[in-house]
Amino acid sequence: MYSKNREIKAVLASKNKHKIQEINDILKPFNINLVSMTEAGLGDMEIVEDGTTFEENSMIKAKAIVDKLGGIAIADDSGLEVDALGGAPGIYSARYAGDNTNDETNNEKLIRELKEIPAEKRTARYVCVITMLFEDGKSIVARGEVEGKITDIAQGDGGFGYDPHFIPEGFDKTFACFTPEEKNTVSHRARALQVLSEELKKYYKEIYSLG
Ligand code: IMP
Repeated sequence: MYSKNREIKAVLASKNKHKIQEINDILKPFNINLVSMTEAGLGDMEIVEDGTTFEENSMIKAKAIVDKLGGIAIADDSGLEVDALGGAPGIYSARYAGDNTNDETNNEKLIRELKEIPAEKRTARYVCVITMLFEDGKSIVARGEVEGKITDIAQGDGGFGYDPHFIPEGFDKTFACFTPEEKNTVSHRARALQVLSEELKKYYKEIYSLG
């Protein structure tokens, strides 16, 4: 199944084109061609993410695809953890302010919840976990984090989600002020992809030395 010369197809548990491109770039050296759920014929599939951690949710998504198609699936799960809020919104980041929510209402809730918290206690981090699951049950789980703090006043109009309020450590501007290229050098997703890439190198070495 794994050959240096044969391209392997993997399905990404996402319909987001930007993510596919970013992850595909990392997987090219491994002869892995990533396709979206839609391209794999799973455009209508709904996956219930009822795990309690980023790791569990990304595994649930990857497993749903492997159960359906076999082969290899890759899934990511990400979010923002705020220390003063006990790690919230965490795995609920996308729907922090309720089921029919959006970035604006999520950010409003975040700033409301932090009203009484002084600036020095507003530490937070973005987390991204990427799981790569093979049909033989082998999996690679890669976690990336970026530390930072939450600021009341929204800055910048790039990025998405909580970016206008998140200042990464070592910088004095929010992620929404970064260009996409700049963000991709330090982001939680970029770091998780780096870990995935290193783990894949080890895994391929193992397979090839086994013949
Ligand atoms: P998902 O893993 O793409 O479903 O993202 C979950 C949620 O976490 C998003 O809807 C955002 O609210 C938040 N999030 C994850 N990564 C980022 C980021 O890079 N910037 C801002 N918000 C993010």
